[in-house]
Amino acid sequence: MQPKQQLLSLRPYKPGKPVEEVKRELGLEKIVKLASNENPYGCSDLAKDKITEELSNLHVYPDGYSAELREKLADYLGVDQDQLIFGNGSDEVVQILCRAYLSPETNTVMPAPTFPQYRHNAIIDGAEVREVQLINGNHDLEAMLAAIDNQTRIVWLCNPNNPTGSYIPEADFVSFMKRVPSNVIVVSDEAYFEYVSAADYPNTVTYLNDFPNLVILRTFSKAHGLAALRIGYGIANSTVIQSIEPAREPFNTSRIAQAAAIGALDDAEFIKTCKEKNREGLKLFYSFCEDKGLLYYPSEANFILLDVQSDADEAFDFLLRKGYIVRSGNALGFPSMIRITVGEEAQNKEIISHLETYIETVKEKVSK
Ligand code: PMP
Repeated sequence: MQPKQQLLSLRPYKPGKPVEEVKRELGLEKIVKLASNENPYGCSDLAKDKITEELSNLHVYPDGYSAELREKLADYLGVDQDQLIFGNGSDEVVQILCRAYLSPETNTVMPAPTFPQYRHNAIIDGAEVREVQLINGNHDLEAMLAAIDNQTRIVWLCNPNNPTGSYIPEADFVSFMKRVPSNVIVVSDEAYFEYVSAADYPNTVTYLNDFPNLVILRTFSKAHGLAALRIGYGIANSTVIQSIEPAREPFNTSRIAQAAAIGALDDAEFIKTCKEKNREGLKLFYSFCEDKGLLYYPSEANFILLDVQSDADEAFDFLLRKGYIVRSGNALGFPSMIRITVGEEAQNKEIISHLETYIETVKEKVSK
């Protein structure tokens, strides 16, 4: 029994080994996972309270329209309620967009390396994938424009980009949008939006009136700390939302997720603290890299991609044996770099001290 031809070239998502299993295998007492850009501080207590309240309603289907969350989020963002679509994580909104716009006779343009789900879903929908290599970690917007033709349906921007953490400044975003044909959807994936501190990062919501083809993706998984509950959303003009809604499953976000998201939106203080601590953590990594002369990409997100001057898998194994799970750059298109999620202060300091040991052994090997 053969699935669709295009699935044959894809590999299923490979989850990391369960933490308990790794602990047992390596005889470790603790393992810290800094691999999936999760929030090390958990989520807001206000979200937890809402979850508890919702526990008595588990026998009732969720509100397929997410009316309460919709009202709250529209207010929070300053958009109309019909400008929102919710997904089982922003992952699902990516899938919905691909399902709605892509087919074998179309193509889609994206940076590379970037978040792999754009490519993955586009392939399943049979579209041609046009990847445009990053330049020094940044989107090559000129080359992306040049890759667009009559058959292009979606262009993906990942801002900040995963796995580099680099961002597209407002002026570049605006001039890009002005030059993209207005019948081509431009997705600005802003999963790490809440962490950004660059003053010239675009507030894309304010451009929705200028650019009817713009779709913004955000999520409750990262700074809001609700990754387990799977809830993210898209913001766009109502005509775009209306046209993609039929590709959404009716009960795609759970009651618990909707309730938690409502609670999370009330806790601006939690986001502010997480953002500040994340910045402090990034600074520790920057000064370590600068001290050791290691290349890294300045990050607007909650992770850092840094060079380990050796095969990324070796650094991954070394850190794993010390109890730290990171992402090897080998699978991310950066074979001598690793991506580390910024953790709590003590974790950052500890992983940096292990990295220091690792880099010294690499340098010794090279000098021998
Ligand atoms: N976009 C980017 C750039 C991401 O890094 C991620 C998560 N790794 C997602 C989207 C998906 O996040 P979620 O489905 O949890 O909302």
